[in-house]
Amino acid sequence: MAAAAALSNDGARVTVLEATDSVSRQFRGELIHPKGVRALESLGLKAPLLAADAIAIEGFAVTPSADAELLRLPYRRQHGQGLGIDHHAMVLSMRSALASRKHVTVELGAKVTGFARSAGRVVGVTQGEHTRTADLVVVADGRNSRLRSQLDMAPDIRLLSHTIVFSVRGQLPVARHGHVFLGAPGPILAYPYGPDLIRFCVDVPLGAAKGREAIVELLSTRYAPFVPAALREAMVRSLRETPFEGCATHAISTSRCAAPGVVLVGDSGGCAHPLTASGMTNALNDVLTLADELARGGPSNEALQRYQRRRYDFVRMREMFTDALYEVFCATDPGARALQAGVFSYWRSSPRSQAASMDILSGEEVRPSRFIAEYSMVAGLSALDTLKGVRTQPRLAQRAHVLKSLARTGLTRIEDAVGRTAKTALERYRLRLADVDVIAP
Ligand SMILES: Cc1cc2nc3c(=O)[nH]c(=O)nc-3n(C[C@H](O)[C@H](O)[C@H](O)COP(=O)(O)OP(=O)(O)OC[C@H]3O[C@@H](n4cnc5c(N)ncnc54)[C@H](O)[C@@H]3O)c2cc1C
Repeated sequence: MAAAAALSNDGARVTVLEATDSVSRQFRGELIHPKGVRALESLGLKAPLLAADAIAIEGFAVTPSADAELLRLPYRRQHGQGLGIDHHAMVLSMRSALASRKHVTVELGAKVTGFARSAGRVVGVTQGEHTRTADLVVVADGRNSRLRSQLDMAPDIRLLSHTIVFSVRGQLPVARHGHVFLGAPGPILAYPYGPDLIRFCVDVPLGAAKGREAIVELLSTRYAPFVPAALREAMVRSLRETPFEGCATHAISTSRCAAPGVVLVGDSGGCAHPLTASGMTNALNDVLTLADELARGGPSNEALQRYQRRRYDFVRMREMFTDALYEVFCATDPGARALQAGVFSYWRSSPRSQAASMDILSGEEVRPSRFIAEYSMVAGLSALDTLKGVRTQPRLAQRAHVLKSLARTGLTRIEDAVGRTAKTALERYRLRLADVDVIAP
């Protein structure tokens, strides 16, 4: 729908084909970073969300354990505020806002089954026997996209964990902030999404519990102790008494998101663990980038290739950051635990370090070099803290063991980041060559 709003702004006629009759029942994102909110505002879609009870979000509050103080990580003032909103309310309010747009038609219960092609170009979609033609097809069918595989854009998929999602009535310790509670077997993300409503997204390792009873037991005994005392009872009651949702969390990465006549936007182009609450901000960045390229000369192959390059410049760094943060927050080995302690030392060291991390988290900073520099700084601090940790780890052998694990985890991650950055540079080069091929005839 954001893509429809963005593309119709330039006078194009847009038809949105949505498979479900109403709103998809699957849980989807609700917390939008300031960059995404600015994008919504530019599309005239922020006001409808505010009217649907969206809550302003000013930053995050994070704690490494039940007894540690909450650390506030504000968004920079000049970036504005984020929003938290019930996903269904968001979809419905965007839908009704679009209904009044002259050039947009939304069709519900209109599942797309494939593509119409002519001379190597996608020229429309099929719905069973029925074909609909279009100058450009924008694929936005989500993380489990069936359509991208028909385009020879099969992604790398890693199953990471499961997320259990439920709602609790009450207030989080810091108003208008997303919260991350650590110390349980997986990170707990909680944020306000309406007046007096808190959404919990709890990360559960693969194989940790199967079936409703086992999940309630696991979350009540191993996770609730890491949630602020004032919310524990309400959390356990909500788990026991109301239905909750579980979904698999994946890291999905594509290496192509454009071909003649067709592009992928949003999760169909890939997604990362929901911990960083970035999916919608990324998707909104996709649609603004696409609209910007199309404004320069319609859906030419060159414009779509440029969209692809710019999209991956934005997305690659987000993927690296999310992978690294998830590893550090899960802290399943001594190296990752030392890194987690280093992250908190780093954030406590100065507002600059907090702002630098929040810029990356919220998509304001996308240069891979910044991520590698910040990560190296944290790894260095973690190593220093470990070396100095006479009180926490009095035996030298213990500290040596942690350092070895830290070096392995840290170096693997930096090597991975450098490798992915080099791969992105190579992709850019290859795509530029593809441009030459397109332009040459
Ligand atoms: C547990 C969890 C928590 C998350 N939390 C956050 C968060 O806090 N903040 C954030 O920014 N992101 C979050 N995300 C990610 C966010 O949900 C996605 O990035 C976002 O929904 C992507 O939007 P999309 O339009 O690409 O896909 P979707 O929202 O998945 O929408 C895809 C649409 O396509 C329709 N569709 C599918 N197949 C077809 C077809 N063949 N024909 C026609 N229509 C079809 C579906 O019915 C659906 O309406 C979270 C994700 C998960 C799983």
